[in-house]
Amino acid sequence: MNIGIDAGGTLIKIAYMEHNSLILNKFPVSELAHVADWINGRDNARICMTGGKASALQSLIHLKAPELVEFDATCRGVEYFLEKLGVTESQYVVTNVGTGTSIHLIDSGQHRRLGGTGVGGGTLIGLSHLLTGLTNYEEIIQAAAKGSRDQIDLKVSHIYEGVEPPIPGDLTASNFGRILQGASHPPFSREELLASVVGLVGETVATVSVLAAGQSGATTVIFIGSSFIGNNLLKDVVQRYTKLRGAAPLFIENGEYAGAIGAWLHE
Ligand code: ADP
Repeated sequence: MNIGIDAGGTLIKIAYMEHNSLILNKFPVSELAHVADWINGRDNARICMTGGKASALQSLIHLKAPELVEFDATCRGVEYFLEKLGVTESQYVVTNVGTGTSIHLIDSGQHRRLGGTGVGGGTLIGLSHLLTGLTNYEEIIQAAAKGSRDQIDLKVSHIYEGVEPPIPGDLTASNFGRILQGASHPPFSREELLASVVGLVGETVATVSVLAAGQSGATTVIFIGSSFIGNNLLKDVVQRYTKLRGAAPLFIENGEYAGAIGAWLHE
């Protein structure tokens, strides 16, 4: 049995086939030893790994597992998903919003890393914790979904009050920029703060992706990564901002497993 493992900065993602269905599982990176025990208990397994924690995992398992470059595995996994979805585009950008954010261009089967930003899922959790004390991902995203950013983020239309702005008024002029300028002042509710953190992360990754796509002539941006798990607010922000800035966003269900699937497919 082939098992593909993507051991990332926050989550370990696992892909394998059992009874003809593809099993996808994830564990926090703090459970590396548990994942190693699970692997060690699987006789005849062929393991292939990728991700920043792959070497740490390798040191805990009995088998010698080949290790793939993370970006190769991710792009292979994305191609797998697109084939299944019947998407035939040959040129697109892949933005992986993991702990950090990494941006790649895929063009006729070749891929190249275009860049990235340190603003990603780790920022979402870290800043949210600093602002509200929450530590649990689910709690953070559920509270964020109930919040409004109106009193925290400064929009272009706030600055160009009453006159026609030269760029869409709905664009954010300054994330968190309205805190001392608006009608309300701190303290803000936990929901408002968290919604604004999601806004900051979503608008940053969308903007950087669209600029990267524009540089390389691509118009479609495919967004993957665990930061979108259960996080419709982040999806909405990224979708809206990507469109507003002139590119076509595409979200892949289970896209956070692209790296693990790329490793699983490795011969
Ligand atoms: P990596 O490969 O770097 O671990 P992922 O694509 O797995 O990256 O994304 C990690 C991010 O996913 C976290 O920073 C967090 O925002 C989000 N996330 C989703 N589910 C969880 C969870 N159960 N626990 C912690 N973070 C989660």
